[in-house]
Amino acid sequence: MSKHKINFNTKTIHGGQIPEKGYGAVMPPIYQTSTYSQSSPGNHKGYEYSRTHNPTRQALESSFASIENGEYGLAFGSGLAAIDAVLKLLSPGDEVISTNDLYGGSYRLFTQVFENFGIKFHFTGMSDPNRIKNLINVKTKMIWVETPTNPMMNIIDIKSLSEIAKSKNILLAVDNTFATPFLQQPLDLGADIVMHSATKYLAGHSDVVLGALVVKNKDLADKLYFIQNASGAICGPMDSFLTLRGIKTLHVRMERHCENAKKIAIFLNNHTEIEKVFWPGFSSHPNHNIAKEQMSDFGAMISFTTVGNDFEKAINIIEKLKIFTLAESLGGVESLAGHPASMTHASIPKKEREASGVVDSLIRLSVGIEDVNDLILDLEQAISL
Ligand SMILES: *Cc1c(COP(=O)(O)O)cnc(C)c1O
Repeated sequence: MSKHKINFNTKTIHGGQIPEKGYGAVMPPIYQTSTYSQSSPGNHKGYEYSRTHNPTRQALESSFASIENGEYGLAFGSGLAAIDAVLKLLSPGDEVISTNDLYGGSYRLFTQVFENFGIKFHFTGMSDPNRIKNLINVKTKMIWVETPTNPMMNIIDIKSLSEIAKSKNILLAVDNTFATPFLQQPLDLGADIVMHSATKYLAGHSDVVLGALVVKNKDLADKLYFIQNASGAICGPMDSFLTLRGIKTLHVRMERHCENAKKIAIFLNNHTEIEKVFWPGFSSHPNHNIAKEQMSDFGAMISFTTVGNDFEKAINIIEKLKIFTLAESLGGVESLAGHPASMTHASIPKKEREASGVVDSLIRLSVGIEDVNDLILDLEQAISL
């Protein structure tokens, strides 16, 4: 099936998939094998060893490429393993410019692992893409972006950033975990690499940890496949299968996620105990126009603070929630609440954290696909107690 002729809602189900040849199984079988028989040395059916190739993983990798409008997909054992592979494109002395309110684990990988290997990172707000210009020098090799950002929901203009990156021959990588390709397709906006923690919306059911990369360029793909095989941070066939199954309902889940989130954002915004609500769908959001331009809807991640930045009140709300589960992570069918300052962003120093808006009363919601009235009643009882 030609991946260019079908629409997104069909790609999630069929994109990049070929019918299984042996028995006509509609879902790709879980090839739970490490190795493959050869008829004579080096004479095999395209598969030698599962670190290098596995048919179940390849089915998932083709799906990734299809839904992100790319040519090449790669699957890894986690989102961070995927980021790790991208950073291994670099050499000591190279510099990276990244967003300042970044997923805490990415920040930790950058500053506590790759800085030891001589790679230098600059962190800055990118809502105005021009702000990165004075950080660019001859050593700048990569720009690493998340949009919407985590947890402040700033929106970064991928297209403008890609124009700056292209003019200086710098790779632009976009972590598309929060938006998913249902809402935004960074490769079409000029990015070179799309990365996902497929753990979140792509797999969608909080039952697997897995990472993805998608690119269009063959040279870049070859380098990344080499790193994937050489470093070996692949995912197993069972997790590949689960993620592929999750992707099949991505479009229907995302529609409901966004619909629920909109109602919850409006509810919170009208609540007297809530000070600020961070969600790009509000026309008052500073980057609302870019969000409208590059996203098809506004996503299901919402952050908010309590009146007077009251830490105790925030903790109280989180503890009182009954349907929203207090947990790390996001993007599953169930609604989750988190406290970034002590959870996802605890590895970022307090001063840096607060400078980017992650204050102690900030609560982050991953709005699930339950009945929205139940979710609103849950928030109401927790906030008013
Ligand atoms: C969770 C997450 C990651 C890390 O992915 P893992 O699958 O947990 O390794 C990276 N970026 C974002 C935005 C995330 O939410």
